[in-house]
Amino acid sequence: MVSAKLTDGYLFDIQGFSVHDGPGCRTLIFLKGCSLHCIWCSNPEGLHSFPEPLYNSSKCIFDHLCITACEKQAITAVDHDLHFNKDLCFDCITYECSKACCTSALKTGGYRITINELIKLIQRDRQYWGSTGGITLSGGEPFLQPDFVKTLLQLCNQSYIHTAVETCGNVSWNNIESSLEYLDWIFYDIKHMIDSRHFVMTGAGNKLILKNARKLALKFKGRLVFRMPVIPGYNDDKEHIHKLCVFLNSIGKDEINLLPLHHLGREKYNLLGKTYYTSDYTSPVKESLNQIQSQFSDNKINCYIGTDTPF
Ligand code: SF4
Ligand code: SF4
Repeated sequence: MVSAKLTDGYLFDIQGFSVHDGPGCRTLIFLKGCSLHCIWCSNPEGLHSFPEPLYNSSKCIFDHLCITACEKQAITAVDHDLHFNKDLCFDCITYECSKACCTSALKTGGYRITINELIKLIQRDRQYWGSTGGITLSGGEPFLQPDFVKTLLQLCNQSYIHTAVETCGNVSWNNIESSLEYLDWIFYDIKHMIDSRHFVMTGAGNKLILKNARKLALKFKGRLVFRMPVIPGYNDDKEHIHKLCVFLNSIGKDEINLLPLHHLGREKYNLLGKTYYTSDYTSPVKESLNQIQSQFSDNKINCYIGTDTPF
């Protein structure tokens, strides 16, 4: 048995009743922190590793109660606006700023949680999973909190809870390997097969991601489903899909789930004080997705579009 050591983790959301991220009905757990910064990310509140202020200036009445409440003096008023020095927030555990705000203009994105607290929440959800559901770890990048994730999965494993993870793969192999024996499914993202093109839109090359994918294909005993976000004009051309088919064939994997670009996360960028750079990219049209699907099928790879999956 795993000892009751209170390993802490950082989350930014828990969502129940998910039916698109693994078999059956599932509880989705979103972990903070990511090693990529994809410009289309729909969960930008997961990029930063620690809880951070989320500020909606349209609800602010500028009474500056948050400024007074913050002991670290991380907030300053500038020209009828608030500026946050988020470097000072990294080890904040009080979040007094958002507690002081009476208009909901200021909220805290993310929170710290112990393994025991999270296990209790997971067990509460168990009743609606049915025989095939379970938990899916998402983010952010779950494997950036390897000890927390390993302990959580180990405890789930001991309780016969089905486990899945969604990963970008851009982490040390050790972070992934330590959890493998406790995982049933892995959803593994590949954004672009060309290193320099990968770097332009995600802030990192793809060498580590492809290397880890090869290792997983060899060593992981569970189900490994690849995923590709479809960004028109970036990775949806025939030449790129051909490269991806060759890669998947070379590692003996035959499942890919296409995730068409959407703009549902746009508003969150404002709250975080970040710029949303993907406005000019349109979502892919059905014909284009069907063509990509056919190309994968021609290469003996089962391709699922969006939520139209067999799981
Ligand atoms: S999160 Fe903590 S440190 Fe940051 S502004 Fe709020 S109270 Fe201050
Ligand atoms: S406490 Fe809330 S309403 Fe007041 S200044 Fe801060 S963010 Fe604005």
